Amino acid sequence: MKRRAAMFRISFGHTIMLVIRPSGSRKGGQAAASHTGNKERAKLARTKLEIAMAEKDDHHHHDEHGSELSEMQLRVRALETVLTEKGYIDPSALDAIIEAYETKVGPHIGARVIAKAWSDPAFKRALLDNATEAVLALGIINRVGDHLIAVENTPKLHNMIVCTLCSCYPWEVLGLPPVWYKSAPYRSRAVNDPRGVLADFGVTLPADTNIRVWDSTAETRFIVLPMRPAGAEGWDEEKLASLVTRDSMIGTGFAKLPSEVA
Ligand code: FE
Repeated sequence: MKRRAAMFRISFGHTIMLVIRPSGSRKGGQAAASHTGNKERAKLARTKLEIAMAEKDDHHHHDEHGSELSEMQLRVRALETVLTEKGYIDPSALDAIIEAYETKVGPHIGARVIAKAWSDPAFKRALLDNATEAVLALGIINRVGDHLIAVENTPKLHNMIVCTLCSCYPWEVLGLPPVWYKSAPYRSRAVNDPRGVLADFGVTLPADTNIRVWDSTAETRFIVLPMRPAGAEGWDEEKLASLVTRDSMIGTGFAKLPSEVA
């Protein structure tokens, strides 16, 4: 169930944010809520209590009723049940997709793309021109989101990726997004105080380096082309790929130094 919970956030990120809002926090509708509000709140409270009790007991045993699931997981399970019953989704297809993201898709794919761009100027031009086409042409994966854009870091410009609305992320090249990427503090501070956020990640830029923050959407995803570190001259693509970190492709880190992987 945990795996399916993750899937819903992959496919229906925007939708689920609307669906899962607790009834008590819905804007407006107070008159209508007065009929059922107490009942719903009591039900929600009961569920919360059950989860709290289950979590308290978690160290001792897992009961067979599934109440060790978090509130989010319970909500996702309910949603999945409804969508399955209505014939909108096939649970086995969800499992297959989630397994692919958990075991086959990850930042190692993005790292191969970056290493290729570092060692092949024609590919780098193609990548910056149209990342969707360039990445697909490599034949590593057979699907890239609707619109992938590669942005190049230079000594004068540092790019950083965020999704201020929710958690849009280039899954196909970076795999599952880190928890911090989806957190409210990162999403707001990346825009208000990008230099401060970078400092938290241990990234210090020269004062004259501009920072550009790119806001992802459901249709448009970004990948940062980090600067190639010095000292890796003559390295083949496979070795170069070992220098490319996930965070360097989000813009919250640099590529590793050759001395770090040698
Ligand atoms: Fe998003």
